[in-house]
Amino acid sequence: MRILVLGAGFGGLELTTRLAETLGDAADITLIDKAEGFVFGFSKLDVMFSRTVPDAVVHPYEGLVKPGVRLVRTTIRAIDPAGLRVETDAGAFEGDVLVVALGADLEPAATPGLVEAGHEFYTVPGAFAVRDVLAGFQGGRVVVGVTSTPFKCPPAPSETALMLHDYLFERGLRDVSEISLVMPLGTPIPPSPAASEALLDAFAERGIGWYPDRLVSRLDPEKKVAILADGEEMPFDLFLGVPKHRVPDVVVESGMCVDGWIPVNPLTLETAFPNVYAVGDVTSVGTPKAGVFAEGQAAVVADRIAGRSATYGGTGICYIEFEHEKVARVEVTFRSGERPHGRFDDASVVYAADKGEFGSSRVRRWFGREWTTA
Ligand SMILES: Cc1cc2nc3c(=O)[nH]c(=O)nc-3n(C[C@H](O)[C@H](O)[C@H](O)COP(=O)(O)OP(=O)(O)OC[C@H]3O[C@@H](n4cnc5c(N)ncnc54)[C@H](O)[C@@H]3O)c2cc1C
Repeated sequence: MRILVLGAGFGGLELTTRLAETLGDAADITLIDKAEGFVFGFSKLDVMFSRTVPDAVVHPYEGLVKPGVRLVRTTIRAIDPAGLRVETDAGAFEGDVLVVALGADLEPAATPGLVEAGHEFYTVPGAFAVRDVLAGFQGGRVVVGVTSTPFKCPPAPSETALMLHDYLFERGLRDVSEISLVMPLGTPIPPSPAASEALLDAFAERGIGWYPDRLVSRLDPEKKVAILADGEEMPFDLFLGVPKHRVPDVVVESGMCVDGWIPVNPLTLETAFPNVYAVGDVTSVGTPKAGVFAEGQAAVVADRIAGRSATYGGTGICYIEFEHEKVARVEVTFRSGERPHGRFDDASVVYAADKGEFGSSRVRRWFGREWTTA
């Protein structure tokens, strides 16, 4: 069976690894990605706050060797889900099964003024560039703001505000700075009231302004104000934004989307096209857009392709950094027909170590090497 996996992110890497483990040399998998390597979302924040350097967090696809897997580094230009075929810069590929794991693209230009007057920190280049912006920042009003929904890793803007507090404090700039967090959610992590309460307490202790249930609609570069959807204006010296998310153009053009995302069966991850699955951020499966969910969905698809009966349960574990080396853990479940619910474990050094292991164990499994500089 020829399996075409589109995208070597959280979902594609887990899927390919599982299939290679299960099928061994009998696998005939083509994994296609245009990037140089994989970067964990949390590593973007580590680089942005100068805790590490870009070279230490990019996991190159080069050298990814698995039984029965061919990695092709190229850009996918067209997807034909009915014909189980894709066109790429390296030619056409066909499969018997197609898995779309192309993630969400980010569109900073969709928010007027963001490119001119602010900085987005959700793409790899964006986060890496903010590192230098922050290094040159001498204090002032910082707004961390979300511009549209849905957005990846809903706890990440809260973590950003907390990490920013520590960063400015260590540089002696906290007293001359204000931090405000604008979020479209009523609480920081709605499925877990305990996690939300802990975060709201942490914001209050650190003097971080919390602006719930609001989106930033545009920035006025002349006046240096962020204009919220309800018309409120927030002056800033530094704006760190979460840009608009959308599926990659090639997915839009494939005709697979409904209301902007690929609908899937939430239990099997099957799309409307026979033998075509979709996992992760590119779907509207009903879980938040986060790597742990993409990974869990990929595991189910791998099992189903290998002939096992598996269904997706919608559970994922999220680590939230409150302070350096103090990380909390939230386990959340999003299952259709049930209210999302979660379990929260307070921040501790234990979960900081778990978070480290979360990253290094995946690098070991997916790439077959140690993350020595982690
Ligand atoms: C700041 C930040 C912090 C985060 N922290 C966490 C966290 O702590 N835990 C967590 O679980 N999640 C976290 N996330 C979210 C996580 O990064 C994503 O949800 C996850 O990567 C989604 O996995 P995916 O497989 O759906 O897509 P991705 O991992 O985005 O992979 C998609 C792949 O498709 C490729 N691609 C796209 N278009 C094309 C094309 N036309 N041709 C070829 N290749 C293409 C891309 O290069 C990419 O490699 C964070 C995100 C951010 C921004």
